[in-house]
Amino acid sequence: MPLWERETILPLHSIPLAVLRKNATQRHGVTRFQRGAHLSVLKTEDVETIDLHPKLLDDAWLDYARFVLYHEYLHALGNRFHDTNFRNLEQHWPHAGAERGREFTKYLRKRTATWLWVCTSCEKEYPRRRKANGRFRCRTCSTILIDVENLQETN
Ligand SMILES: [Zn+2]
Ligand SMILES: [Zn+2]
Repeated sequence: MPLWERETILPLHSIPLAVLRKNATQRHGVTRFQRGAHLSVLKTEDVETIDLHPKLLDDAWLDYARFVLYHEYLHALGNRFHDTNFRNLEQHWPHAGAERGREFTKYLRKRTATWLWVCTSCEKEYPRRRKANGRFRCRTCSTILIDVENLQETN
């Protein structure tokens, strides 16, 4: 990527990569800074690890995985917040896969869900860890959702 000079990104090579817990669903990647690092002035050498979701290492998600790693590298380069500048840098990612975030979240939720909250009128499914017990309605058509056990294999 022509945006980045070699000496800017060189320190990124020494950051150890690790994986998140495999039942994580909210986060796809995280940049962990060493305890005691000055969070107001983040420096690349203060990064302890970058953790990626283990499911990102499956072949089917590699294009998105590369983008998540790019996103975490932006944090590691000192960009702490998802501000306008951060989003601009993200936009420079030249490869496909960046748009698959919501798809990946959906996939993770479905994997870890014990229950599917099912709409009997429009057949929409909402994978969840807990039962709905008649307390929730379909977002599309407002029908009360019923609980169906999610039989999809979790691995
Ligand atoms: Zn981020
Ligand atoms: Zn519905």
